[in-house]
This record gives sequence, C-alpha cells and structure tokens, in this order.
Amino acid sequence: MSEHPKSELPAVPSNFIRNIIDEDNRTGKWDGRVETRFPPEPNGYLHYGHAKSICLNFGLAQTYGGECHLRFDDTNPEKEEQEYVDAIIEAVSWLGFDWGKHLYFASDYFETMYQCAVGLIQADKAYVDSLSADDIRAYRGTLTEPGRNSPYRTRGIEENLDLFRRMRDGEFIEGSHVLRAKIDMASPNINLRDPVIYRIRRVAHHRTGDRWCVYPLYTFAHPIEDAIENITHSICTLEFEDQRPFYDWLLAALADIGIFVRPLPQQIEFARLNLTYVVLSKRKLIQLVDEGHVAGWDDPRLPTLVGARRRGFTAEGFRLFAERIGVSKSDAWIDMSVLEECMREHLNDSAERRVAVLDPLKLIITNYPEGHSEACEAPNHPLKPEMGKREMPFGRELWIEREDFMETPIKGFRRLFPDNMVRLRYGYVVKCTGCEKDADGKVTAVLAEYMPDSKSGTPGADNYKVKGNLHWVSVAHGCGAEIRLYDRLFAHPYPGARREGDPEGHERSFLDDLNPDSYRTIRGWLEPALKYTKPEERFQFERHGYFVADRVDSAQGAPVFNRTVTLKDSWVREKG
Ligand code: ATP
Ligand code: MG
Repeated sequence: MSEHPKSELPAVPSNFIRNIIDEDNRTGKWDGRVETRFPPEPNGYLHYGHAKSICLNFGLAQTYGGECHLRFDDTNPEKEEQEYVDAIIEAVSWLGFDWGKHLYFASDYFETMYQCAVGLIQADKAYVDSLSADDIRAYRGTLTEPGRNSPYRTRGIEENLDLFRRMRDGEFIEGSHVLRAKIDMASPNINLRDPVIYRIRRVAHHRTGDRWCVYPLYTFAHPIEDAIENITHSICTLEFEDQRPFYDWLLAALADIGIFVRPLPQQIEFARLNLTYVVLSKRKLIQLVDEGHVAGWDDPRLPTLVGARRRGFTAEGFRLFAERIGVSKSDAWIDMSVLEECMREHLNDSAERRVAVLDPLKLIITNYPEGHSEACEAPNHPLKPEMGKREMPFGRELWIEREDFMETPIKGFRRLFPDNMVRLRYGYVVKCTGCEKDADGKVTAVLAEYMPDSKSGTPGADNYKVKGNLHWVSVAHGCGAEIRLYDRLFAHPYPGARREGDPEGHERSFLDDLNPDSYRTIRGWLEPALKYTKPEERFQFERHGYFVADRVDSAQGAPVFNRTVTLKDSWVREKG
C-alpha cells in the first residue's frame, strides 16, 4: 500500500483573479473590501456566456463577503430597450444571485460623466475636435505608423469648454464635433491616440429621453461607472485588454483633479466562454430569432438563459459549470457535453423519477383479470429513500416502448420476444406469448402472461431470474401528453467555420450548420402521478432522460414536457 497522504482539494479552486484579490487583501489595498459588478448592455437577452460572467462576479463577491452590482450599461441610446432590462433582471435572479440594493443604470451617471469631461478639458487633457470621422481615422495612423495631431488639438481651454457646452446644448449637427482625450498620437497603443470620448447623437434614450444629445463612448463611460460605484475589481473579457491603459489613464487623470480618490478600480480580463454547437454572439442570436430559425428568445434550443430555463437547465447546473470550467487568460473552446454533464449531475441528484412511454405499443396480459387493477410502489429516487415513493397502477393493458419488443430478436436482445421473460419494473414478471399485427404486418399489440407470485417487493419476486427490466404505463390510468424532444441547435461543433471539403472561396454561414433534427414533438403516455405536474417541475423519465414541464404551454392537468437532456451523451455515439 502506498503511504501517500490523500490530496486535499480546496473547496473553491483558486484562479488568477482570486490570487489578485488575495494579494489585495494581504496588502490591505481595499481594507478587505471586494466589490464587483456585472454590467450587461440592455440590447439583447443574456446567453450562456453571460452566465459564466455572472457566476464569476457574483461568486467572487460571495466568496469574499463582498457585494456584486447589477449595472445596466445603457450609455448607447440606439439599441437599448426596457424589454431587455426586465429579461436580464429575471435571468440574474433565476441564476440565484442577489444584488441587494446595488441595481444601477449607467445612464443615471450622464451628468457626472459630463462633469468628468469638463474636468479633463480644464486640466488640458481633452479637446473638441472638428475633423470629420474619416479624417480622424486617417490621422490615427496604423499599427506600424504613428498618428498625427489634429489641427484642432491646440485649441485653448476656454474655447474647448465653450464648444463642449454648446455640443451639449444642441447647437451642432451630428458628426461636426467630438470630444477627445489628449494623450499621445504617437502611442504604440492605438487606443491611447487621443480616443474619442463624446459624440453628438440626436437620438432619444430609453431612460433619459431627449435630455441629452451628447453621449459618452463606452471606453470612457465604463471606468467612470466603476469608480462612481467604488468597484474594486472590474472583471471583463479579454478583448478589453488593449483598453486597460486607457482605463488606467482616465481614472488617474480624474483622481489627479480630485473627482475620484485612490485606490482606483482595477480592470482584470479573463477569457470569454466559447462553447461548441452554439453561437454566443448577440448579433447571431438576434438573427436566429428574427429570421424564425427558432420560435423566440426562449426557444429551448437557443443558448439564452430564458431558453435554458425553458429547456429545463438549472441554475445549479450553470453554477457547477462555471466552477468546473474555471477562469483563465487564454481563449479555449469548451465542449457542449461539459455543460450537459453538469445539468445531468444536478438533475440526477435532485429530480424525482417517473415513468413515461414515448413510443407506445400495447402490452396485453392475457391471464390478468379484466377490469382489475392494483398499485405498485415505485421509489422517487433510487438512492434517496427520503424522497419517498409513489403508487403506479398496474392493469391488464399496459403501454410499453415499441423498441422493447422484437418478434425475431437480434442477438443480445433481452427484452420482450416470444417465450422470453422480463420484469415489468416495480410490477410483475411476464412471459411473452406472441403478438397481434395489422394487415401491413405492423405489430399492434404484444401478448404476455404474468407470474402472479412475482410482484416486486414480495418474497416471490426473487424466484425469477430475468435480464430485461422494462418500464410501462397502465393504459386505463395513463395520461397522454405532448412531449418535445430537443437536441442541439447546430449539427457541427463550430457553426459557420470552414470545413474540409468546402469549395475554395465558399463562405459558410453559421446558418448552414443548423441541425435539421433539433426539435421533434411526439405524444407519449405518462404515469398518472405526472398528470398534475406544475410548470417547471423536473423529472427523470426512467431510461429516457431529464424532462421539465414547459413553463409556458403546460396547463393544469395537461402538462407539456420538454426534454432537457438525455441520460447519457448520445450525441457522439449516434451522430459523431
Ligand atoms: P456580445 O459580444 O454578444 O454583444 P457583449 O459582451 O457585448 O456580448 P454585454 O452585455 O456587454 O454583452 O456583456 C455583459 C458582460 O458579460 C460583459 O462583462 C462581458 O464581458 C460578459 N460576457 C459577454 N459574453 C461573454 C462570454 N461569452 N463569456 C464570458 N463573459 C461574457
Ligand atoms: Mg459588450
């Protein structure tokens, strides 16, 4: 025997962000305070990628006894809507997180942002530029060539203050002037070549209406939002790495003129979630919805959080997923099976078992008295007696799965075929005696005789050694229901990516890779205990997978079930 001590895994795995926070706590930088934020732009529904960011930001706040803000980054007046605000609030709470009193809208800070800009002008760190957009671009230089100063860069402070005020007052047309930070047109980082921080937009804003006709750019607004809210660690995705020098420059400049106090929030970047078999870009999601490739934002196949919820995915599953994939600095792809496995893990643990027959074929037990029925007991969870039991009525006619019978069995088939015995799970052992067929030779019923002394849970049950163990639903008691079988929305791991065999010059669209079999609806038979399922109740249908009662279309006494995920990862085996 080896003498190695058991390795002890920390409860929450460490990562580079936790290391930064730990170090800040060690040095006392923030006096132990940890304040993060999740800052969605309300221009679309949240998707699985956002779940990673939500779990990370709220999770860190929880771990360190801090706070996480929910902040709507609504500084762009064009695409934002109240519908998205409401959906985002619902999705974050559904994931199980609480922002307490920290619900904010960046548009509430427009006046402060404006004053920050004025402060920069007064400190000679910003100027009004009157070049056209094209000229600004041309003056900016390239990655290899430095930019050139705008002829307006040397405008005096008073003139700049006057022009900026008049921009705000609506005296100028769009595009005639912008406000730029005065940094360095020769900087190797293009983001520091006097970035534009305000522009004129004559567009009404969903919250501030017509009050403003100048709007701050995201790169200017975001650091200020963080500083206003006393954020300690401002966590964002990697594409903002090149913006960090400007984030730091701006907050330092504003601290120098006394608008903010040090220490200043620190931007930390992590790799965004890339997941196979879906697309996680708002633009593509909007296209899928608008062009009718899916039934709406909450289509269970769509990787939105409203879609996930309707699909039956759980908040616990997402949190487990976020923990399992961790955070890193390098971009990688996560396989969809990892997410599905997290959902299975949580559902396996929490979902009660039930029986449903999805492709029904009648089984007639010819030696069972007509009109009679009796109760069989079935555990709600095989490993958790505390979850209790339920009664399943047994009778002369039962629904079984069509695939559980073969008139001429293939090798290794252990289920029903003439002369073979199987157990009807939680009920009796039956012996198949034949079948009935229609004129086309299609099997319409299977015939069997039951062994009256073989009932599960009675001493006689052990007298029979059988290999097959089938599920069933009593014809007289079962409940017919619509069942929706969902599968992956895309048939390929990287939708739209070029593949071997594509003709030269062919541009593949992600829409070309839609999975034509991602949705099928059937009618199945449910055991009676399922009849009064409430919307969003989740079950494991034995041998089939996890199912949820649809939260939209289920009615009292008439549930509609969605398949959340199969019991095992069947994707690779069947389709790979
Ligand atoms: P898209 O690129 O699809 O438009 P976005 O990043 O612009 O998404 P936001 O509303 O700005 O959407 O995102 C809010 C937060 O969620 C940001 O902090 C962003 O970094 C984070 N986020 C967005 N997509 C992902 C992802 N795939 N993985 C992790 N975090 C993400
Ligand atoms: Mg964004």
